[in-house]
Amino acid sequence: DNVLYKAIDIKKYYLASKRGTLETLARKPPIFVKALDGINVDIKKGEVLGVVGESGSGKTTLGRILATLEKPTSGRLIFMGTEVNDKNTIQVRKHIHMVFQNPMTSVNPRMKVKDIVKEAMKDKSEEKVKELLAEIGLDYNYVKDKYPRELSGGQLQRVAIARALAKEPEFLILDEPTSALDASVQAQILNLLVDLQRDRKLTYLFITHNISVARFISDRVIIMYAGKVVEEGSAKEVISEPLHPYTQSLLNSVPELGKKELKPPSGEVPSLINPPNGCRFHPRCPFVMQTCKEREPPLVEVNGRKVACWLYETNWKKATS
Ligand code: SF4
Repeated sequence: DNVLYKAIDIKKYYLASKRGTLETLARKPPIFVKALDGINVDIKKGEVLGVVGESGSGKTTLGRILATLEKPTSGRLIFMGTEVNDKNTIQVRKHIHMVFQNPMTSVNPRMKVKDIVKEAMKDKSEEKVKELLAEIGLDYNYVKDKYPRELSGGQLQRVAIARALAKEPEFLILDEPTSALDASVQAQILNLLVDLQRDRKLTYLFITHNISVARFISDRVIIMYAGKVVEEGSAKEVISEPLHPYTQSLLNSVPELGKKELKPPSGEVPSLINPPNGCRFHPRCPFVMQTCKEREPPLVEVNGRKVACWLYETNWKKATS
């Protein structure tokens, strides 16, 4: 069917560093940070799937796992119908590229722009480099002999995007690619990404903590909280009429496009070492009920989208009976 990438029951547990003397450490059992705790995602060919959450929600870990930069602790990844395993990771990686928040970390500071781009290209002719730079809005003659430090943040992010496109991937994972930029530059880069996605028929996973940015760029969104997906559906529906109390709280504090920080709901982001029992959002939820503290709500379909919240249990039962 139309699914490009399928992630099934992905878990990622990291070993947390322990503190203590050698003697006490030896007696302590290992402590795990549960960065992702059972994530299922279908990414359809040609769509922009937004992944929204605060820091600590697991969204970057999910991106890195889908980019095959990290291995999940358990779960399955199926890319273009093929199960990703140790033997074919390099093959799979040819179709996927990740763009990071800080472009400085993804380019070699000692290389000239033209060489940074050329190095990644299949066809390394000057003409092709020129064409690609024009497509991402940079003048070849202006940037070719410049070093990364001589470019603005926006120009450098364009170079990082050119590098990502040079490999002609099917799927781009964009991890907060505009969060470090000024508002006006942020809008330019978002517009560029929209044009590239349409013209090159790309599929995007767009990771952001900014729900306005997610609304602008995404066809569908998943909302993540403490290593779990709490809501999933069309960007328009989820953002205009959120069902999950966490999504509602994100929208109550929505900043204008360009303003950097989203004001998260009051209360602490939960520990991923000992996440709260039941619904992980319950210590911060204005609608918390007794059952929320005891039982974890499954992600179930409600009105054409998915939501993990006991408030919708009756709708769920109706839908499945
Ligand atoms: Fe709030 Fe309960 Fe729904 Fe969790 S399950 S979001 S605590 S109402």
